[in-house]
Amino acid sequence: VKRNPGEVEFHQAVKEVLDTLAPVFEKHPEYVEAGILDRIVEPERQLMFRVPWVDDQGKVQVNRGFRVQFNSAIGPYKGGLRFHPSVYLGIIKFLGFEQIFKNSLTGLPIGGGKGGSDFDPKGKSDAEVMRFCQSFMTELYRHIGADADVPAGDIGVGGREVGYLFGQYKRITNLYEGVLTGKGLTFGGSLTRTEATGYGLVYFMDEAIKAQGKSFNGATVVISGSGNVAIYAAEKAQQLGAKVVTMSDSNGYIYDADGIKLDTIKQLKEVERKRIKAYVEIHPNAKYHEGCAGVWTVPCDIALPCATQNELDGKAAETLLANGCFAVGEGANMPSTPEAVDLFLNKKIIYAPGKASNAGGVAVSALEMSQNSMRYSWTFEEVDAKLKNIMVNIYNNASHAAKEYGFEGNLVAGANIAGFLKVAEAMKAQGIV
Ligand code: NDP
Repeated sequence: VKRNPGEVEFHQAVKEVLDTLAPVFEKHPEYVEAGILDRIVEPERQLMFRVPWVDDQGKVQVNRGFRVQFNSAIGPYKGGLRFHPSVYLGIIKFLGFEQIFKNSLTGLPIGGGKGGSDFDPKGKSDAEVMRFCQSFMTELYRHIGADADVPAGDIGVGGREVGYLFGQYKRITNLYEGVLTGKGLTFGGSLTRTEATGYGLVYFMDEAIKAQGKSFNGATVVISGSGNVAIYAAEKAQQLGAKVVTMSDSNGYIYDADGIKLDTIKQLKEVERKRIKAYVEIHPNAKYHEGCAGVWTVPCDIALPCATQNELDGKAAETLLANGCFAVGEGANMPSTPEAVDLFLNKKIIYAPGKASNAGGVAVSALEMSQNSMRYSWTFEEVDAKLKNIMVNIYNNASHAAKEYGFEGNLVAGANIAGFLKVAEAMKAQGIV
């Protein structure tokens, strides 16, 4: 805390991991000797830079850019870029730290990193977004590369932004390489990448729920957010027979007792970039409520928080539990506050932490890197089958690690331990670097 003042989200993410690693260090004193703990919480490199650009009125704007290259023990740095006004170093470091363990859990050779900017894409024209992305990449390009650091999307960074970033990277470096993932399908993107995080979340939860003799079929599902993760989590849940009754944005949430119509959501959010409120103009039977936190008061069997960090607090957790919710699966990164997590673990409901359950996005990003290196592409079905297999493996590895280290049923501990072991072993083998 003294070394990283004010970085509250980073402290929260580190504490949650360290709280579960004591039995690992007891079993492996060699990791203590190799200083793994002190080294793993310190990023290998942190970059902060000026991003100047000119808005449509001809006025100069200045944002701050970040890239935290956290850990490269098991592969090149990999992790998304977030464009949101709340972004500062503490947010990027929490996301980068989580990414180390998540990437390790995928079983693929990718290290941990994260980046972004306090730029707010909301209300900006395409031309402004393009100029911003070009300026951002004009600094970032010298620090990244297909074998060094491969960024992707996150909040506020989707296909449009990745396209502009890729175009500028190629122009400056004269290299056509897989330096970003989440690219468009005409220039090296992977099929299933758009769906990957949401589908992966539901594959993971399906496995966890089946282990307790339950099913998505016929279940009522509450989802927060209406971005990339939320939309495809809803789609896969519906395909498995669930009824998804809510979606939200930072202004409020919609409740549709008949089940959310995803075609409408995709049109409003992916094409027209409108607010979620517009849904009730098209489906008047649905209700819109101001304030996104209210989404957790809607009774459900399964809750999938897919918007942002700390969106589900202790009070919301109590309400969910009182309403009979038996499973919570995180699509977002760290959406549940520590109080909410404690409640879920104490009540022994099925609780999947984001670093395990939302790893499908980065897993397919790593598959995009493989396809780019091979100059080849797999079909949707091939990538989807690999994604499903990866998510089932993550669930199995996390639940086995939990059992082995005395945390049976606790997927938070299981995911932290399973993710940590591979990275620690690689760091030890590579010496004090
Ligand atoms: P998008 O930008 O596509 O969507 C984000 C959604 O969350 C929007 O509905 C947005 O509403 C809402 N939201 C964002 N910030 C807030 C806030 N402060 N309060 C309330 N609602 C908010 O992002 P993604 O779907 O890509 O990401 C969602 C979460 O999933 C993030 O935590 C991200 O880190 C995580 N994640 C994403 C992956 C991916 O592949 N995309 C992979 C793994 C994790 P509004 O439009 O009003 O801002």
